[in-house]
Amino acid sequence: MTQHSRGQALGTERLYLDFDSFFASAEQHFNPDLRNRPIGVVPLDSPHTSCIAVSRQAKARGVKSGATIAKAREIIPEMIFVVARHDVYVRLHKRILNVIENVLPVAHVRSIDEVVCNLLPSEGKRAEDLARHLKTALSTAFSDVLTCSIGMAPTELLAKIAAELHKPDGFRLIKAEDLPQALSDIDLGDLPGISKGMRARLQAAGVHDFAGLWALAPKQARAIWGSVEGERFWNGLHGYHTERPETKKSMFGHSRILPRDWRTPEQVKICARLLTESAGRRVRRADVRATKLTLSLRGGGGRNPSGRRSDDKHWSWEGSFAPARDDHTFMKALGMGLAEAERRLPFQPQSVSVMIHGLIGATEVMGDLFAATPGVSGGAADTADRAKWEKVSDLMDDLRAKLGPQAVSMGPTKEVPGGYVGAKIAFGRIPDEEDFSGPPVADEDTHFVTF
Ligand SMILES: [Mg+2]
Repeated sequence: MTQHSRGQALGTERLYLDFDSFFASAEQHFNPDLRNRPIGVVPLDSPHTSCIAVSRQAKARGVKSGATIAKAREIIPEMIFVVARHDVYVRLHKRILNVIENVLPVAHVRSIDEVVCNLLPSEGKRAEDLARHLKTALSTAFSDVLTCSIGMAPTELLAKIAAELHKPDGFRLIKAEDLPQALSDIDLGDLPGISKGMRARLQAAGVHDFAGLWALAPKQARAIWGSVEGERFWNGLHGYHTERPETKKSMFGHSRILPRDWRTPEQVKICARLLTESAGRRVRRADVRATKLTLSLRGGGGRNPSGRRSDDKHWSWEGSFAPARDDHTFMKALGMGLAEAERRLPFQPQSVSVMIHGLIGATEVMGDLFAATPGVSGGAADTADRAKWEKVSDLMDDLRAKLGPQAVSMGPTKEVPGGYVGAKIAFGRIPDEEDFSGPPVADEDTHFVTF
């Protein structure tokens, strides 16, 4: 059973980030000649196709996404059309996640250009700063054509609505106490989850505007929607979360499938270090200390008789240490695990995973934090040492957030193919690079339509 928790009591809890005209902006980002011009992205090099995205310059002149090439040319004769390059967008998406992750952990990827972050109360209080910070990090890492709109609100639904309100390059904070007035002018059809059909059903039920929608009782919403979705929508709108409450975090971990040419011991090490850094940042953000690190490697991957791929070989190593929150300790533990893997691993790894666990809340730590615990980081003797490494890690987190992921690193700064190492995300419908057949398309290799 789902539980409800009132967003209002806790303030701004969700940040929704939605890129503006993503495919079109991506094309403008990679090809500066296309910037500031009306362009349309089409799925096929064919005169009978429609735009899956149009640039903001085209939108401003009245061409909507979904317009056919003929229709768009009627409105803007000089409009430029390019063919979509999905593998390029997926690569860009992963690089984008990496940049966002250096400012805020991504809770859910909702589509190739939309993500949700869950905010801590302290982060919700500096909403505008945080939005500016994200936008700066993105424009520093990419270019100022790749803009996004950010919404912050008590629930994901409200944050998504907020992100839609001031496109492009917008920011909008909706507080629980601003409702329903903040949305009184919104057209019901512009709300996420309200399709044409749903709008007709709302009309039939006498709901014509936001005030009417707001005034519904949860049961009425359920009846109009004809399913529990109506109640879910009502909850989201009124500041209640309907997702399952998050179980208390017991570990921070990341894993990564290694591309075929990334399976040498040296590259496995690089990947494991990046995963460890990423997990370490999460430990620090959660304000806890960890006492264990597990390195796991999987391999094998032959096809079983039913043709399904299996990771049948599995090797793991666990190290423990005095409660720690610094990369130095985590890297030292990882180094021991990697050395062990080098000596004993009986197969070639195809995926690497690092888990940092054995978590202890900051308040519980004091008693035994500096007591002698056998393990990687030794005991009482290195209290001062540990404090120093903790400061270094905090400083590095700050620098990464300000200057970008490549700014500082304990290990090598080499980029893992695919870039993104925060692997806790379910990519949903977003394909992986390995899903694309044929050689990868270069970022700058724009495909213009040929007619
Ligand atoms: Mg978008």
